[in-house]
Amino acid sequence: MHSSFSDNDSLSVFRDRFFIPNGNGKEKIYFLGNSLGLQPKTARNHMESVLESWHQFGVEGFFEGENPWMDYHQGLAELMAPIAGAYPEEIAVMNALTVNLHLMLQSFYNPDNKRRKILCEAGAFPSDQYLMESQVRLRGLNPAEIIIEVSPREGEDTIREEDILEAIHQNKDEIALVLWGGVNYYTGQVFNIKKITEAAHNAGAVAGFDLAHAAGNIELKLHEWDVDFACWCNYKYLNSGPGAVATAFIHKKFHHQSVNRLAGWWGYRKDQRFLMKKGFVPGPSADGWHISTPPVLLFACLKASLEIFYEAGMDSIYRKGSAMSTYLIQLLQKIQSETGSDIFRILTPVDEHAKGCQVSLLFKHSGRLVFDHIISEGIFADWREPDVIRVAPVPLYNKFEEIDKFSQVLTDTLEKIKA
Ligand SMILES: *Cc1c(COP(=O)(O)O)cnc(C)c1O
Repeated sequence: MHSSFSDNDSLSVFRDRFFIPNGNGKEKIYFLGNSLGLQPKTARNHMESVLESWHQFGVEGFFEGENPWMDYHQGLAELMAPIAGAYPEEIAVMNALTVNLHLMLQSFYNPDNKRRKILCEAGAFPSDQYLMESQVRLRGLNPAEIIIEVSPREGEDTIREEDILEAIHQNKDEIALVLWGGVNYYTGQVFNIKKITEAAHNAGAVAGFDLAHAAGNIELKLHEWDVDFACWCNYKYLNSGPGAVATAFIHKKFHHQSVNRLAGWWGYRKDQRFLMKKGFVPGPSADGWHISTPPVLLFACLKASLEIFYEAGMDSIYRKGSAMSTYLIQLLQKIQSETGSDIFRILTPVDEHAKGCQVSLLFKHSGRLVFDHIISEGIFADWREPDVIRVAPVPLYNKFEEIDKFSQVLTDTLEKIKA
C-alpha cells in the first residue's frame, strides 16, 4: 500500500453502514457507486417507518407519526444543502432527473428571435441529448440549427476548458442557454462549473447543469457560483436506490411568481394549498416547482443515505474520493510503465481538479476480454461501448486495499492476454 491517506482513513468506519454485495460468502469489490450506489442499512428501517405511519394513521400520516409526510422533504432539503452548496430553500427533491431537466427548460429556456441557441458538450448523456432535441422541437425550432456542441480537439479525449469558454463567447449574441454536465459520464472529466456559469452570464445566457455524476462526488457551491439551475439523480453517488427520487436546485433569485413553470398543486404556496383556489400561486422557494404529491417511500431511502453523508462530512468525503482516484491512476500508470503495454489509455484527466471518483480506461483491443476477466474475479466495474471500462472507488464504502486488488487483477489479466 502506497497511499499515505489509507493509513489515516477516517471514513473507513462508514463501510459498515452499507450492504456490500457478496458471492460465496466473500465480499465483492464494488466500484460502481457511479452507477447505482449501495444500500444503506438504515434504508429499510426508514421505509418501514413510513409504512408504519400509513398503517397506523392512514392519510393522517401527513401530519402524525415520527416524520410527518407533509414536511418530510424539508428535512431532505436541509441534508442535501451542504452537498449542493445551496440554501435548503433552493433544493426541491422531486420526480426523476430527466423529468426535472424538462421542467427546468420549461422555465429557463426562453428562446426569442435573436437568442435561441443551446450550447452543450458533445457526447452528452443520451437522455440529455433527447431532452434538448424535444424541448427545441416543442418550440417549433430545428435541433440541428439550435444545439451547438463543443467537442474535444482532434486526437484529444476531453474538452479543453478554454474551448468551452471560447465557444460561449463566440456565440454570445445567440445563446439562450448553456446546459452542461458537472462530470462527464464517459470520461470522468470534471468541468469548471463556476467558470462556465460566469461565461454564460457574460454572454447573457442562462447557466444550467446536469450533475448526475457530480452530486456526492465533487465539491459543489451552486449558490455562490451563481448557477441558475441544476438537476441530479440520487441513485448514483447518493445511494438512494433504483428509481430514486431526484433533486433540482433553483437559485434564490428565481423564487418568484413571474418565473413560468409547469405547475401542479404541490407547488402552490404551502399555507394556502388546501384552500383549493383558482389561479396558481407558487410557493416562494424551489418548492414552488413541485407538481405532485411527494413519493414519501422513496424519500425514506434518500434520507438513509443523506444522514450518512451528513455524519461523515463533505470535506472528508471529497478528500478521500480524490485520494482514491489519484491512487488508482498512479497504480495504472505503474502498470503501463512496468509492462510497457499501451493496450489501454487513461481517459480521465490526471489533474486533481479535473476528476472525481471515476477513472475511465479506453482499450485499443481486447477490452471486453479484460472486462470479463475483472468481473469473474468478483470486481464490479462497467463496460461502455465500444471500448471503455469505468471504475469508481467511492469514499463511503470502498477501501484502498480494494484498489490494490483491482490493480493486481488487471496486471494478471494483461499478462494472460500477452501469453
Ligand atoms: C445517469 C444519468 C442520467 C439518467 O437520467 P434518469 O432520468 O435518472 O434516468 C441522465 N443524465 C446523466 C448525465 C446521467 O449520468
